[in-house]
Amino acid sequence: MDLAGAAARVRDLRARIADADHRYYVLDNPDVEDATYDAWMRELRALEEDHPALAAPDSPTRRVAGEPSPRFPPVPHEVALLSLDNAFGTDELRQWDARVRRHLGGAPSAYVCELKIDGLSVALTYEDGRFVRGATRGDGAVGEDVTPNLRAVEGLPVRLKGAVPPKLAVRGEVYLPRSAFAALNAAQAAAGEPPFANPRNAGAGSLRAKDPSVTARRGLRLWCYQVLVGPDLDQWDALGSLEAWGFPVNPERRRCADVDAAAAWCEQWRQRREALDYATDGAVVKVDRAAAQRRLGATGRAPRWAVAFKFPAEAARTRVRDIWVSVGRSGVLTPVAELEPVAVGGVTVSRASLHNADYVEAKDVRRGDTVAVRRAGEVIPEVVEVDHASRQGDPLPFRMPAECPACGAPVQRAEGEAAHRCVNPTCPAQVLGLLIHFGSRGAMDVEGLGERTARLLLESGLVRDPADLYALTAEQLAALPRMGERSAANLVRAIAASRDRPLWRLLVALGIRFVGERVAQVLARRFLDVDALAAASAAQLEEVPEIGPRIAAALQAHFADPDNRRLLRRLREAGVRTADPAPDPPGDPSPAPPPADGGAGLQGATAEEAAPPLAGKTLVLTGTLLGWTREEARAVIEAAGGRVTGSVSARTDFVVAGEHAGSKLDKARALGVRVVDEDGLRDLLLGRT
Ligand code: NAD
Repeated sequence: MDLAGAAARVRDLRARIADADHRYYVLDNPDVEDATYDAWMRELRALEEDHPALAAPDSPTRRVAGEPSPRFPPVPHEVALLSLDNAFGTDELRQWDARVRRHLGGAPSAYVCELKIDGLSVALTYEDGRFVRGATRGDGAVGEDVTPNLRAVEGLPVRLKGAVPPKLAVRGEVYLPRSAFAALNAAQAAAGEPPFANPRNAGAGSLRAKDPSVTARRGLRLWCYQVLVGPDLDQWDALGSLEAWGFPVNPERRRCADVDAAAAWCEQWRQRREALDYATDGAVVKVDRAAAQRRLGATGRAPRWAVAFKFPAEAARTRVRDIWVSVGRSGVLTPVAELEPVAVGGVTVSRASLHNADYVEAKDVRRGDTVAVRRAGEVIPEVVEVDHASRQGDPLPFRMPAECPACGAPVQRAEGEAAHRCVNPTCPAQVLGLLIHFGSRGAMDVEGLGERTARLLLESGLVRDPADLYALTAEQLAALPRMGERSAANLVRAIAASRDRPLWRLLVALGIRFVGERVAQVLARRFLDVDALAAASAAQLEEVPEIGPRIAAALQAHFADPDNRRLLRRLREAGVRTADPAPDPPGDPSPAPPPADGGAGLQGATAEEAAPPLAGKTLVLTGTLLGWTREEARAVIEAAGGRVTGSVSARTDFVVAGEHAGSKLDKARALGVRVVDEDGLRDLLLGRT
């Protein structure tokens, strides 16, 4: 390539990389595969090497990518948080090893092998063994101060153990376990909200949430792996010391005598990583000796003494056979890509959600396209990239249908919403979805009412809505295809038993938007009766802790709808319980504090997220808290829905006792109020009461 051609390509690559960096580091929402990004970087590096005139000090090949967001106070890092150079495969690892040995005078080097956690890099600062500050990597030189959020990360020690140097800064990776990611997305789905793309992005967004109680509820965790400021230790010993001081250190690590052993360890993890509850995108091979690390030094972007052995992405290419639209119980239309089956990370994927019309438009995915599919956190397969260059498929872009594919009724998109909805409440797809939801475990819990039976009941005409279930007889059911007498009798019994479920279950079962288990429980406790709830004004609803304008509006819209009222009446006539007995002794739940966000309540949050762990709880702080200032502790408690008062009474739920706690602690003990220490406070913030 001549210089002019190379210059144009370099400009193009730098622009693409800058755009991808912004989406990845700032918006937590990438739109190209990591492998594609890595290929751009390699091409750029090769061009800069071939044409030194094109090299520039601010090229992405020479600096740490990322930028601190202005949403958080900036923190200059005492020691730069660098990135890592990559080795793709064992040949490149051996080439790196050869360079290391050349630099060090030829002798084989011992390496420490660790897993490369696909999370968010953080620097944690400790003074006299107390956690004082935590920051994200940012651009490597300046990070974002996320101290209160980091305190809510499980496993982060606020106070260290043993003989700790007076000043210590360590580096680690905050990550969202796959199990927590799956639970988070299940909650999103239950609330009719779009899923998060993958654990890394969900984790990064959670750590950088405005409200630390959101961070706490997401279940983030941490592995630490480097001493940034502190004693001068070889890497293997540093990991041991970090563990002894109380940091979580990944047990999956190995000290290897040479590159052969290191390569074998990396290869082995390439195969085994599926079994882990966290995402890894590679292994990191590090020169063990601290003195050797110093001799090798670093470039402006990465140390020369460590390299990331990248695992191939858990993504695969395949073809879109078709795009069809499914209709959910709330009438939301979801475009789905029907794929030529392909193995992704050990599982065969034949469908991927395209979420909504905006998503399809942004990706411009069409029938016949070749796409890259990834399993987002092992749960939902998703299309991450479309190969537009090789397009041979449909020349027309996908359009959301104007009519519901299930019933032909018009489809509408409300102002400001991503979702298109079918307007027909008797749409068979919606009715089926509602029936399955009604009987599901988190709602009325009708054993035996799965998707197959629900379909059978609707197709037979015996059931048109959930109220019809209660009129079914064993004889009617036994006459249905593939339904034996025993199953028929069991189903009738299970339906009958569901008549007496507590009110909150009925509220979940009605399928009201944003009303998941937690919100339903709060509402049931406050109103006791579905009629009282249906009659409540928006203002009365918003007075309830945890209920914001968005949920209040959804409740009002639901109960204003004549079809929903009719269903409720018929359920009552069928003997379904619609009220809870008044609590004994009678009375209102204790007055709860106003929502910490000043009244917005759950606005913008999902129903499952709607559960501030300390809602309605009163706490008293006493003594010296080592890991928190009083103001910080008060702020996180309030953000978690709790209230901090100055004196202990029988109405106090918890006393948080630090060092040298005095009379308040005595009073708490005398009154039988629960006393917790700082770790206990963290458990409370994590919802482990
Ligand atoms: P990186 O993620 O490749 O490697 C460096 C990071 O690894 C460090 O910041 C560190 O936090 C982390 N790490 C995890 N475990 C570690 C351990 N045990 N020891 C040392 N470090 C460990 O580098 P990066 O600069 O953060 O990101 C570049 C990568 O991110 C690219 O290679 C690409 O895959 C991805 N990326 C993707 C996009 C996209 O649009 N898809 C955009 C930007 C970056």
